Amino acid sequence: MQVIMLGLPGAGKGTQATRIAEAFHVPHISTGDMFRAAIGAGTPLGLEVKGYLDAGRLVPDSLTIQVVKERLGQSDARTGFVLDGFPRTLPQAEALEDLLRELDLPLQYALYIHVPRTVLMARLTGRRLCRNCGATYHIVFQPPKHEGRCDRCGGPLYQRSDDSEEAVKTRLEQYAQTEPLVEFYRKRGILRQIDGERAPEAVYADIESLLTASRS
Ligand code: ADP
Ligand code: ADP
Ligand code: ZN
Repeated sequence: MQVIMLGLPGAGKGTQATRIAEAFHVPHISTGDMFRAAIGAGTPLGLEVKGYLDAGRLVPDSLTIQVVKERLGQSDARTGFVLDGFPRTLPQAEALEDLLRELDLPLQYALYIHVPRTVLMARLTGRRLCRNCGATYHIVFQPPKHEGRCDRCGGPLYQRSDDSEEAVKTRLEQYAQTEPLVEFYRKRGILRQIDGERAPEAVYADIESLLTASRS
């Protein structure tokens, strides 16, 4: 199974991708997570991308495409993947198409989680992540059982520096570069729009029935 997640920052891509990956036993490949891990580890890649993430601007295509190319070349991606946060520009979408042709792994769906922009600021500024395992929470919409602690692993929760109101504004502007991908995948017949303005469980139920139906 090969799927990508599309949607505005805060639409719920990561939340849903995590569930898909667990249920369908495919790796959850998030470019944002990979960049944050590189920054945390202080690698050359991390040093190169830090300024972009802090400001809420897109990392240049050439660098991003290289990172994804390496990741999709690893053996666990041979049986499928859920790509979250990539592609985000037309050149990235075209590069992915070429790469998947080479790997003989055709995309089944582009899952477009649709939400009105009005809900995003509250979702993003209330988002918290586990420092250990990366699990996503929300202080109001998805609170952990114990404040500040991850339900899964007990790790400490933190707030992303780019979930500040200022960086969120920039990220929403940068989305103009991603918007054309909806048409790109619609033309290829694989776009599936999901109503993301419901409880995460309801959103996932739609995705699950779509993915299960396509398998049988
Ligand atoms: P969100 O959860 O808001 O959708 P991500 O975690 O996917 O955010 O991405 C965080 C940041 O990482 C982006 O603002 C951008 O700086 C960088 N980034 C992630 N994916 C890409 C990409 N495909 N192309 C360029 N930059 C990216
Ligand atoms: P994205 O990866 O698209 O940026 P996330 O999955 O990280 O989005 O979700 C952004 C924030 O909104 C997180 O704090 C998450 O817990 C919360 N969230 C995700 N899905 C929903 C939903 N359906 N309803 C309310 N809050 C949600
Ligand atoms: Zn955790």
